[in-house]
Amino acid sequence: MSLLEAAPAPLVLPHATPLATPLDDARSQLSAAIGVLGYSDGLHSLLATPRREMTVAVPLRRDDGTTRLFTGYRVQHNLSRGPAKGGLRYSPNVTLDEVRALAMWMTWKCALLDVPYGGAKGGVTIDPRQFSQPELERVTRRYTSEILPIIGPEKDIPAPDMGTDERTMAWIMDTYSVNVGYTVPGIVTGKPISLGGSHGRASATSRGVTQMAIAALKHRGIRPEGATAAVQGFGKVGHDAAVFLTDAGVRVVGVSDQYGAVYNAAGLDCERLSAHVAATGRVVGFDGAEPIDGDALLELDVDLLVPAAVEGVLHEGNASRVTAPVIVEGANGPTSPAADLIFAANGQLVVPDILANAGGVIVSYFEWVQGNQAYWWNAAEVEHKLAERMLAAWHQVVDYAAARDLSLRAAATVLAVERVAEAHLLRGLYP
Ligand code: NAD
Repeated sequence: MSLLEAAPAPLVLPHATPLATPLDDARSQLSAAIGVLGYSDGLHSLLATPRREMTVAVPLRRDDGTTRLFTGYRVQHNLSRGPAKGGLRYSPNVTLDEVRALAMWMTWKCALLDVPYGGAKGGVTIDPRQFSQPELERVTRRYTSEILPIIGPEKDIPAPDMGTDERTMAWIMDTYSVNVGYTVPGIVTGKPISLGGSHGRASATSRGVTQMAIAALKHRGIRPEGATAAVQGFGKVGHDAAVFLTDAGVRVVGVSDQYGAVYNAAGLDCERLSAHVAATGRVVGFDGAEPIDGDALLELDVDLLVPAAVEGVLHEGNASRVTAPVIVEGANGPTSPAADLIFAANGQLVVPDILANAGGVIVSYFEWVQGNQAYWWNAAEVEHKLAERMLAAWHQVVDYAAARDLSLRAAATVLAVERVAEAHLLRGLYP
């Protein structure tokens, strides 16, 4: 039987429970897409399983002379459409299964936005806030040298994710370049502009999230100007999303971070809040808002909810209390399959992560293309090309969902999985 031949019944993977992990959620979403496409068990297993995984020990000599040991991962989920692409996460909670899930979502995201990459993700079990910059540099360089055999500008190209930034990317680029003996800007994206980074990369994910939020509000008949929003997470994605939404006329009334949340019914002054966060490291304590419980932020009476922090925050236990008619996933994997069913039953529109937060990988692709050509685009060009791709994907997903009576997540996943499967079919199995 060929790879794509339909099997009588799709492979059934365990159903997500309230305690389901991100990997359970990712597999459950794939399973649903395979059910629509009717692919064989063999192809399903192939798409559910990472192509290559590496686990490495990352020892750190601390500034005080003691040694700490961390674990590092790099998972390449799929390489059928091009080099692997995906962020690097620094978090004490990173696990191999989480990285596997994030790598799978990257495969679907790249396929959906039609950028010529497979999906990957990396992680190191470190809390970056507990370590000095020289310590983070040593950890990054050691991790990079351990995974060196499987990364490269034509193999696997890391980028920033939670807990990492353009500084981290500069260290990876330098470590890789020193090891191969010449400068290789294409080994990472999300680099500082002075090292070959792209204009607009740092804010690209948030710009895309905002474009999807505006499109989704309009789709629901809600005027963005004057609509209200809550944003969970005030890091690279959440912060700029709150600023861009405010610029678009949306009243951002609540934001949160891992320490707590703040609320102001009249709308938050994002500029002053940013200054407060820069000074104190957290949103709570801001004098232009009242503190509220972090979980309560998700249940605020707003038109738009943007989860932009971690996975699994919208689940069976709280989904029925979430009232926002539009949910736009800035984070990867914030909504469990059980919560998806509740939102669908309640008529809430969820713009899935693989579409909503794809702006980052689109401009990462632009950065890689510019680097390969040694020809740089200006900020306006990048923004224009980003908006074009995001809105084209939005229309494609919305039309596909309407034609087949699917949720936006199901439509996006089916479109993406079909493209990856087609690449497998055309390439065939070796040997
Ligand atoms: P970041 O490290 O810059 O910021 C993370 C933010 O989330 C911080 O404000 C942190 O305090 C907050 N946070 C952590 N745990 C929380 C919790 N339990 N409740 C509330 N807030 C919490 O990370 P980032 O780059 O902004 O990434 C955020 C999410 O967006 C992740 O899911 C990431 O995978 C996804 N994402 C990031 C990019 C990118 O370009 N950076 C692209 C696509 C998707």
